[in-house]
Amino acid sequence: MNDPILVTRSSMPPMEEYLEEIKSLWDTRFLTNMGPKHQELQERLKAYLGVQRIDLLTNGHMALELAMQALGLTGEVITTPFTFASTTQAIVRNGLKPVFCDVNPNDYTMDVTKIEELITDKTSAIVPVHVYGNVCDVEQIRRIAEKHHLKVLYDAAHCFGVRYQGRGIGDFGDASCFSFHATKVFHTIEGGAVCFRDERFGETLGALKNFGLRDGIATEVGANAKMNEFCAAMGLCNLRHIDEEITKRKAAVDCYRSHLEGISGISLCPVQKDVVQNYAYFPVAFDREAFGADRDQILQRLSEENVFARKYFYPLTSTFPCYGNQFDPKTTPVALRLSSQILTLPLYAELDCADVDRICELILSCKR
Ligand SMILES: *Cc1c(COP(=O)(O)O)cnc(C)c1O
Repeated sequence: MNDPILVTRSSMPPMEEYLEEIKSLWDTRFLTNMGPKHQELQERLKAYLGVQRIDLLTNGHMALELAMQALGLTGEVITTPFTFASTTQAIVRNGLKPVFCDVNPNDYTMDVTKIEELITDKTSAIVPVHVYGNVCDVEQIRRIAEKHHLKVLYDAAHCFGVRYQGRGIGDFGDASCFSFHATKVFHTIEGGAVCFRDERFGETLGALKNFGLRDGIATEVGANAKMNEFCAAMGLCNLRHIDEEITKRKAAVDCYRSHLEGISGISLCPVQKDVVQNYAYFPVAFDREAFGADRDQILQRLSEENVFARKYFYPLTSTFPCYGNQFDPKTTPVALRLSSQILTLPLYAELDCADVDRICELILSCKR
């Protein structure tokens, strides 16, 4: 039996490089609370991501939760159910009501033709997801938001380093939240960031991540979501290797595409125009009728050969038991269909083309 191929594998800098990076912490004993590593990573990421302002947090989820709070959202928020649990949980934990908009069948981001019909006098924001690193229709979303005086908060957890028309993806909307979780393209072990333009928003967010404190007095009901120095040091190391990381991922993706493009019953995400991609995921949708096998059968066949793909995203977040039966997934039919058809295939920098060949061979052997 071949060695298992997992859906992802965290990239690590050379161990010596990390040890070198954290050495000074034994002298300074400055382990957290916005120390020098935190500040340096913040500056470097601002430049790399091409954003005006950025604040670092413990994880992507707290970035979303506290960004929503700092934006002062109320009532209803239009979002997508075709995402990781975090997006919807952050909305609900802010006491807001998620209103689920369907996704478009091409790149699986929010279907902008269906947003306006969901707006009510209670709507305060749109929270779209650049899912799999695919860029949302940022122009149309901005137009709708301006017309209806709504805030826009992007869940940018999947799109570290992605650029649209030469602009960093984190520069769109009122704020964008990144995740630096170990499984993401760039990671700080656990970590996250909020990118934004408004200085006042930044001050509120800065207080919220530190117990709501300003000058020792709580002016907001805050949390503790500060990135510590060991995580920031991991980020500094990983950032030195990020371009190489993305180039390697691209090679694996090119290999997948060469096998799977144009096969009936298989849909791949299109390469978007004017977008610099990060090759974060390789989602494949299987149409059972046309392909002759369904997603679950393919997942099973792969696992028999020690290859582990992932049903990402299944089920839709709107159907999670923690929300009871509040939401009807039939109101988002495209997302519902996709969630039954999609698999994300193994993808990480060290995945070599021979492995991709074998994975694709297995998949194609399921075709009837
Ligand atoms: C990973 C992820 C998050 C949460 O990020 P964490 O850093 O794991 O808290 C949020 N949204 C999406 C779409 C994600 O994939």
